[in-house]
Amino acid sequence: MVDDLVKQVGGEHVDAIPLIQGELDPHSYELVKGDDEKLSFATLIFYSGLGLEHGASLHPYLLKNPKAISLGDLVDQEERGLLIHVHGQKDPHIWMDISLWAKTIPFIVRALSAHDPSHADDYQTNGEYLHKEMERKHQEVKETMHQIPVNKRYLVTSHDAFSYFARAYLSAEGEVESGEWKKRFAAPEGLAPESQLSVTDIKAIITHLKRYQIHWLFPESNVSRDSIRKIVQAGKEEGLDLTIACCPLYGDAMGQRGSEGDSYLKMILWNAQTILSHLHPNIEEPMATIHSESDPKGEKE
Ligand SMILES: [Zn+2]
Repeated sequence: MVDDLVKQVGGEHVDAIPLIQGELDPHSYELVKGDDEKLSFATLIFYSGLGLEHGASLHPYLLKNPKAISLGDLVDQEERGLLIHVHGQKDPHIWMDISLWAKTIPFIVRALSAHDPSHADDYQTNGEYLHKEMERKHQEVKETMHQIPVNKRYLVTSHDAFSYFARAYLSAEGEVESGEWKKRFAAPEGLAPESQLSVTDIKAIITHLKRYQIHWLFPESNVSRDSIRKIVQAGKEEGLDLTIACCPLYGDAMGQRGSEGDSYLKMILWNAQTILSHLHPNIEEPMATIHSESDPKGEKE
């Protein structure tokens, strides 16, 4: 998602290479052969920050490298109070709120312009264009999600990646101010997917599902489905009717090139459409076309 923004701001003047490619988990990514060359060759290194990239080899490298720019931390320093905290930890998944992710653009423009002043005007223009486009999509996603009746607007996914999405797009009026938006999202796994659930984790989710009469569980493209399968099983024992959504959401990674989620904005729009089509299936939207190959892997439960 960082790469996508840098490419759009940099345009033809910048060669951007993503370090973490495909559907790998950015939380635990460790440097592999060839990464050293990419990183030492780079003029600038942009990363998401806020504790996202905490792999034992990558994290210290980024911290000590003067070329490395943590976009999330810069946004946080510029404007306090935007971040969500989970058990005292900063939630790094800020790309899930398009308007929040758009706040990283000025820092990309600034860094590129400082290193390449001759194209500063272009970076500025590209940044402003992208910002407008993102603000537009932010409204679009909000309108899409608000088609879902408020008593059905609850999201449960594999890991704790969708809090910003819930706050921005699922909350009802007044809930952001009161903090009540938090009930709109829950996940069995924590801020980083660790695939280990305690009995307490499972109980907490089951209680949540019962309380808000939630029926759908959404898998994520780059996270194992083991946890949500366990929840479905535990729910069955409690007499709950739970179903795993046909198509995974994009959480911490965009989709493969050519997929519905192969750009930052496409991934967020895909998530919104997928959530809408499950939580409010009767709506007359061209949703059916997106899910024409429903349950391709036979994983519906
Ligand atoms: Zn994550």
